[in-house]
Amino acid sequence: MNNYKRQFFKLITLSFVSTVFLPFKILYSATKKIINQNLSNEQKNIMFNEGTERPYSSPLNHEKRTGFFHCANCGAKLFSSKAKFDSGTGWPSFTESLPGAFKTKIDYSLGMKRIEYHCAKCGVHHGHVFPNGLTKKRFCNNGLCLIFIPDNN
Ligand SMILES: [Zn+2]
Repeated sequence: MNNYKRQFFKLITLSFVSTVFLPFKILYSATKKIINQNLSNEQKNIMFNEGTERPYSSPLNHEKRTGFFHCANCGAKLFSSKAKFDSGTGWPSFTESLPGAFKTKIDYSLGMKRIEYHCAKCGVHHGHVFPNGLTKKRFCNNGLCLIFIPDNN
């Protein structure tokens, strides 16, 4: 009998939690808009469902030219190549973003607390920002969410 009670309370708690948080989730996803109509399904999955591309899959891992990284959905300028570094994690990594490029949100998925960031202009998910060393941050960005435009273009 106790077991049933426990199940019952679990169900009540779960439905309460989802009722309270669902509107936030809907509100959050409502701020994201498809601007680039040519996004692939993989890009959409990362940008709109907070997916993650396979590590070491992005050609931007090896991008070393000077220029700027833009949002693949809305074109907003997000990172300077000066902030890019090789983190060895398999995703394009940056020590800092351009001012005002992103907004952040605490993400508890995968059973841990991480800071998720999304494009301040169009709202799509880009990656997570982690502490790195004493003062530096590491923006771990999905390459599929970025478009690189070299300076002399
Ligand atoms: Zn954007």
